Amino acid sequence: LKKKAKASSKLAGETNKAAVLGAGIMGGGIAYQSALKGTPILMKDINQDGLDLGLAEATKLLSKRVAKGRMDAGKMGGVLNSIVPTLSFGDFGSVDVVVEAVVENAKVKKAVLAEVESQVSENTVLTSNTSTISITELASDLKRPEQFCGMHFFNPVHAMPLVEVIRGEKTSEASVATVVEYARKMGKTPVVVNDCPGFMVNRVLFPYFGGFSALLRDGADFKQVDKVMERFGWPMGPAYLLDVVGIDTGIHAEGVMSEGYPDRMKRDFKTALDVMFENKRFGQKNGAGFYQYE
Ligand code: NAD
Repeated sequence: LKKKAKASSKLAGETNKAAVLGAGIMGGGIAYQSALKGTPILMKDINQDGLDLGLAEATKLLSKRVAKGRMDAGKMGGVLNSIVPTLSFGDFGSVDVVVEAVVENAKVKKAVLAEVESQVSENTVLTSNTSTISITELASDLKRPEQFCGMHFFNPVHAMPLVEVIRGEKTSEASVATVVEYARKMGKTPVVVNDCPGFMVNRVLFPYFGGFSALLRDGADFKQVDKVMERFGWPMGPAYLLDVVGIDTGIHAEGVMSEGYPDRMKRDFKTALDVMFENKRFGQKNGAGFYQYE
């Protein structure tokens, strides 16, 4: 495996400058992590409010690092300055890797990717942070599908070490190698997976959530299940994790998984998740999920 990793890293292009599309929860986190680890990054959104939120998040995370003594106060300005907020594609010509992190909608993502492809150089590798959309499908309208792959971060980006690098049908090994190296440069642990519903992590996670739903149907108390899984050694139980992920996001991803694996993901009963979704209890994002946050 080590030999393979060494051989593929020879194919990798260097990422000296990156860009992220979308300055939301994920885009803001990706910009912070890239800048923190020394790769300047353009952060593009379609509205100023989005950019302000992304920058505020990066500033908050950096201030926390300084307060904890993990960074010199004098270095904070330099890191912040290497996140360049923008509403236009002006400087995209000099970017090595682009991470698309706009809303989870195939039509919007395909339009955004086609637009950015026309703005970057021929060598730029484009990636998408999609959680559920096929990478091969997202590449279908691109002129250079070989220079496109998935780069799936987890939330919160600064705290979660794993990044799934997803190889679409036409993705070149050089593009995969470039993105793997960029993920490593960001201090993350990349894992290369083939394109399929749920990639790798969600193929493990969603059957687990399914087991949790069945336990609730059988009368278990979600707080007790959480406690048991914490004592088992996991950092949090399934109910709390679903609140962090977002109940709406969870329901959406579960639908994608059921479609992809109808036999394995079969569910013929209404779950607590469905009920919470109907009652707009989306988790931490709106203050109420399994737990109450306000
Ligand atoms: P979000 O709603 O917080 O942010 C999306 C941002 O994209 C907004 O600021 C919006 O203004 C901007 N945007 C919309 N259209 C745009 C365009 N054409 N150009 C530039 N910016 C545009 O969403 P998020 O939670 O950060 O999710 C982004 C992506 O990351 C989605 O594909 C999602 O599935 C994926 N993802 C999310 C999580 C998570 O837990 N939130 C985890 C992993 C992956």
